[in-house]
Amino acid sequence: MSAVCAPTTRRLLRLALAGPPAAMQRHHSLDVSAPLLRTQGYVDGRWVSAASAFPVLDPATGQEIARVADCGPAEAKRAVDAAYEAFHSWKRFTAKERSVLLRKWFDLMTLHKEDLAKLITFECGKPMSESLGEVAYSASFLEWFSEEARRVYGDIVPSPARDRRILLLKQPVGVSSIITPWNFPSAMITRKVGAALAAGCTVVVKPAEDTPLSALALAELADQAGIPAGVFNVVPCSREKTPSVGEVLCTDPLVAKISFTGSTATGKVLLKLAADTVKKASMELGGHAPFIVFDSADVDKAVGGAMASKFRNSGQTCVCSNRFLVQSGIHDRFVEKLGRAMDAELRLGHGSEPDTTQGPLINARAAEKVVHQISDAVSRGATVLKGGRRRDGSFMEPTLLTDVTTDMLCTREETFGPLLPVIRFDSEDEALAIANASNVGLAGYLYSQDTSQIWRVAEALEVGMVGVNEALLSAAEGAFGGVKQSGLGREGSKCGIEEYLEVKYMCLGGLQV
Ligand code: NAP
Repeated sequence: MSAVCAPTTRRLLRLALAGPPAAMQRHHSLDVSAPLLRTQGYVDGRWVSAASAFPVLDPATGQEIARVADCGPAEAKRAVDAAYEAFHSWKRFTAKERSVLLRKWFDLMTLHKEDLAKLITFECGKPMSESLGEVAYSASFLEWFSEEARRVYGDIVPSPARDRRILLLKQPVGVSSIITPWNFPSAMITRKVGAALAAGCTVVVKPAEDTPLSALALAELADQAGIPAGVFNVVPCSREKTPSVGEVLCTDPLVAKISFTGSTATGKVLLKLAADTVKKASMELGGHAPFIVFDSADVDKAVGGAMASKFRNSGQTCVCSNRFLVQSGIHDRFVEKLGRAMDAELRLGHGSEPDTTQGPLINARAAEKVVHQISDAVSRGATVLKGGRRRDGSFMEPTLLTDVTTDMLCTREETFGPLLPVIRFDSEDEALAIANASNVGLAGYLYSQDTSQIWRVAEALEVGMVGVNEALLSAAEGAFGGVKQSGLGREGSKCGIEEYLEVKYMCLGGLQV
């Protein structure tokens, strides 16, 4: 989303559930100005080829839109070496010099926002309005961290000894490996890289196999902005090469830090790899967000929030609501209004079509997972009020389920698709018990007009981020991150840059003062 995840417009969702997706009927071609459509890796300020290439597919049509250099461990190692070399000079740039370069990069992203958005739509499937939202969100991290670069302060601490002075310096960690997912192909990179570069670190980015084009376009703009060679490197690779590239990025002794966004399962693999050389780690992992609607809620606001939180990026964001807990007194009104909003506002199609609000899921496997969760829920007594079917390719109908219970798969695992399951509850304690019965805790949402209840529930929810009468949380100014197995560390806000800094304690002794 902003992923975040990314903020998008509130009026993003219009859907017609009838008729085949427009993507299947019309021809769509990616029309982006040449310098931004890069298909080679970017290492040490140069565009590099690899022995082979892998296809990038439009998930809406299955058509190939580009072939990209399939970098392997050798290219990854070259990128690490280049980043290590560049670190020695980049860390000596003044904070203001780094700030100016990040700002130029931000300006270039803003200038090329249309082309960058097209790349996102064609490789990831999201509608253009959301892709434009992601570009703005993505660029905002370069802007924010260009400002934060100049506000890295250490401390001078009162000493217990008269002849000593105690200073705490902040210094960049070093080379950082950045591994990112496909669902926010641009923003998940800048959220990390903005902070890393501002702090004085250099980076090697490995984007997802499905979405390397946005990462390479960012490299082109970094180059145009004057970011020095070796500071920002990108090694795209196919899923086959991913484990060997990942191994270099997570085990090479020259790498000081790994920062990963993706599934909890992959995060655990990478943490284990990084353990041998005791690297610093930031992990932004999976979510399973509860969305709680209490009897006192403004039902229209709750419905608007549910629509935005569930159907953005067709349900493929880590902060998408996954479980809707609705109190008995408001349940029927909420479900009825929600069903009407889904009919009125959502429309399946290719992301480049102006009417589209719901693109495809990233691949057939993702659609199969949603279908499996629906059939499991139905077999255990759930009722399908809207949708429920898979369409051509990886298109999935937005689906509304009621009579959902906590033994169903959809309430126990992340869906990552447009499935909205509603669980009815009676008491606040019951809602909290259901919401917290999860080993991940990224985002949570609650709708209530009772101030005491808002404080009680917001404090009791076991999550890293809480939306109170608000479903779109993401902003560069906010601290993004989760608790439990949703991750380690925070991105954005004043916290984000700290992830790329070490504290050095300096003790000045023997002073005659
Ligand atoms: P994923 O399968 O974990 O993949 C994420 C990235 O890790 C991709 O670049 C993938 O490369 C790479 N990867 C996989 N195995 C690797 C290995 N052994 N070594 C190095 N890299 C490896 O996750 P996903 O399915 O793409 O993304 C969806 C998940 O991300 C969801 O669980 C979602 O909640 C989470 N997410 C979290 C946040 C957050 O901020 N907390 C934000 C967005 C998404 P390939 O593409 O080549 O497989």
